[in-house]
Amino acid sequence: MNQLSDRINNLSTSATLAMAAKARELREEGKDIIGLSLGEPDFNTPNFVKEAAIEAVNDNYNSYTPVDGYGELKDAIITKFKRDNNLDYTKSQIVVSTGAKQALYNIASVMLNDGDEVILPCPYWVSYSDIVKLNGGVPVEVKTDISNDFKMTAAQLEAAITPKTKMLWYSSPCNPSGSVYSKDELRAIADVLQKHPNIYVVSDEIYEHINFIGGHYSIAQFEDMYSRTITVNGVSKAFAMTGWRIGYIGAPDWIARACNKMQGQVTSGANCIAQRAVITALEAHPSKIQYMVDEFKVRRKLILGLLDDVEGFKTNEPEGAFYVFPDISAYFGTTMRGKTINNASDMAMYLLEEANVATVTGDAFGNPNCIRISYAASEDHIKEAIKRIKLALT
Ligand code: PMP
Ligand code: GLU
Repeated sequence: MNQLSDRINNLSTSATLAMAAKARELREEGKDIIGLSLGEPDFNTPNFVKEAAIEAVNDNYNSYTPVDGYGELKDAIITKFKRDNNLDYTKSQIVVSTGAKQALYNIASVMLNDGDEVILPCPYWVSYSDIVKLNGGVPVEVKTDISNDFKMTAAQLEAAITPKTKMLWYSSPCNPSGSVYSKDELRAIADVLQKHPNIYVVSDEIYEHINFIGGHYSIAQFEDMYSRTITVNGVSKAFAMTGWRIGYIGAPDWIARACNKMQGQVTSGANCIAQRAVITALEAHPSKIQYMVDEFKVRRKLILGLLDDVEGFKTNEPEGAFYVFPDISAYFGTTMRGKTINNASDMAMYLLEEANVATVTGDAFGNPNCIRISYAASEDHIKEAIKRIKLALT
């Protein structure tokens, strides 16, 4: 008999992590799988950051940390917010967590009551919907598609708002579409929110630096949005530090205090060595990590060029992050090698089995017509993967 809670029984497994685990499993069985499923830079953490961690170990940083993060790390985060986003935060507005994922979970748990609605422009990052549901919230999906570059318009937002709307969550640059909201687009969204003063915003800016158009704008920069926005960021992507598990928020201090209280009962402060290393990472000018962004830009061009040649894959030009999100619905209803593709999950499974390439179904991101392909992989892997995909589809 299933004795587990309804909460866990109703929870979906993270599709990104599940696909990565499946690819790993098949590799262990001897299959030559190219993994383009996980959103994880293939670079090493920069040496100057690693050195700071080694120093922290030798300096005996081994004790519990303050729940909301070392004071020096908060100072580095405050400096980063000012330098990169022109945002003024004080220490009481910052909470450091075990990855941006925990920061997002904290926010949902301190902000949502049962039945509160959270607007999620689709496609959204895979965990938003389940984090919201786990905390009693109701995700309200706003559909977008390739024709509007997968961005929610102000009119769509307005139409989705009900008396139960508590929050809006989005990422820009967006995982999975790579779309970046411009200052004007964010202003239009902010104008709608002005009519609804009880709605709070989560602006997930973890891909901030992986931006190919050069214009990153934080919605909290609008004076009228500052006190109702929680800005989420972290070092996983820009600094190639996914395993170090450090993320953080800048928020109104009553929200930050609540996240601190929640975290104090769940995990305590984030890892001490990682926090010391992140001080060094954030104090560095973003130009120190530009080489990775430049490389992603080269790969973006490569993969877009290659995908142009794959029949039935319709792709927008992502402006940031390291994903392409092709619409593959042209294949729905077709049968190849005895397998019928009826949806994006079928396509992801088909490509895994027939092309030995791991991608992620768009269903997991709230868009059932697309699949997500990460190009955080070597050029050779990208070339080989798209060659195999093309072959499997002909
Ligand atoms: N937000 C987005 C949009 C992401 O893609 C990710 C992926 N890791 C996260 C948050 C979580 O990041 P972290 O590794 O800091 O938990
Ligand atoms: N955020 C990454 C992704 O979207 C890492 C996996 C995860 O945390 O879900 O692939």
